[in-house]
Amino acid sequence: MTNKAKPDWKPATQAVHGGITRSQFGETSEALYLTQGFVYDNAEAAEARFNGEDDGFIYSRYANPTVDMFEKRMCLLEGAQDARATASGMAAVTSSLACQVKAGDHIVAAKALFGSNRWVIENMLGNFGVEYTLVDGRNIEAWKNAVQPNTKVFFLETPTNPTLELVDIQAVADIAHECNAKLIVDNVFATPVLQKPMELGADIVVYSATKHIDGQGRCLGGVILSDQEWVDENLHDFFRHTGPGLSPFNAWVLLKGLETLALRVKQQSENASHVATFLSSHKLVERSMYPGHDTHPQFDLAEKQMPGGSTLVAFELKGGKKAAFAFENALDLIKLSNNLGDAKSLVTHPATTTHKSLSEEDRAELGINDGLVRLSLGLEDKEDLLSDIEQALDVVAKA
Ligand SMILES: *Cc1c(COP(=O)(O)O)cnc(C)c1O
Repeated sequence: MTNKAKPDWKPATQAVHGGITRSQFGETSEALYLTQGFVYDNAEAAEARFNGEDDGFIYSRYANPTVDMFEKRMCLLEGAQDARATASGMAAVTSSLACQVKAGDHIVAAKALFGSNRWVIENMLGNFGVEYTLVDGRNIEAWKNAVQPNTKVFFLETPTNPTLELVDIQAVADIAHECNAKLIVDNVFATPVLQKPMELGADIVVYSATKHIDGQGRCLGGVILSDQEWVDENLHDFFRHTGPGLSPFNAWVLLKGLETLALRVKQQSENASHVATFLSSHKLVERSMYPGHDTHPQFDLAEKQMPGGSTLVAFELKGGKKAAFAFENALDLIKLSNNLGDAKSLVTHPATTTHKSLSEEDRAELGINDGLVRLSLGLEDKEDLLSDIEQALDVVAKA
């Protein structure tokens, strides 16, 4: 019997066994190494470790055995050669960008991004002299036209938050590679279960592990995955010296989260599909968006790059903000929160919360109008979810 994961195991097997290193006690579950540092047998051993002649651990800002298990498991799930786990999804996004651009470089990114992702590109990196162009991610010509001689990085999310539009990862990767730029995909909405960006040409994949990877509302985390060369040349030193790393305790929670990721995403997507079907024919619903249904305007692309739908549904209520608020306030089982990917179903009104910092024009351009509601479906029984939604819509109809 060996302790090593086999690279050809299927994802569900990797999610349970991948990356485990057992201590001398042979524990079944992953060990939690809640330590800052490591002791050396003698001065020569310390010297060898700092020289890189011995690959043992030095300091938990660099690497830690529990965090290392999480990174290795994520690599096996993603088909990446190396990874660094971070304290939050934003630490992953910021590090993945900041480690490879300098003043005078140019980033091309989709307009439809998680609010803080847009802030990092528009405000933070802008302060350091990094230029950017934002494009409609669905329009492949727009990506091509945005390329400049100093373009270094392409950045996108798909499906997008909150309107669940798609970006063709392969087509954007081809454009990026033609100009020697790298493509970063924020794969939070799809999860490693529903989309494999690296197989479609992405160079770097980032996650907020806070979402489906934990999936049970407990801790924040993130991860950056890529090939060995990119990590060695861009991320390795940046990560060691700026310190965005994940706590071993949170890494341990996330390792346990990964064990059930595939099951949860499958069930949550089934629930989402069920709810989307119901919403699509309801008289109070203007339009509903679900990538797994052929009513989605980009269904062909969904079929091409995603093996399943999504754990989220977005829909627009007739009656704008008043109707959306009445709907949220009438829900009982489904909780009001800006989070997503949780075992508990959650509802959000993007225009007044997650996307409030965008101008009205930007929101309109992205299709985030006042009637838009985002549902993240959890693990509850789908009949209970439907009856909660149905009774809330009845309240809206009477208002
Ligand atoms: C939540 C989220 C992030 C940020 O993750 P945190 O863990 O909250 O820092 C980044 N991108 C997307 C798409 C997200 O949904």
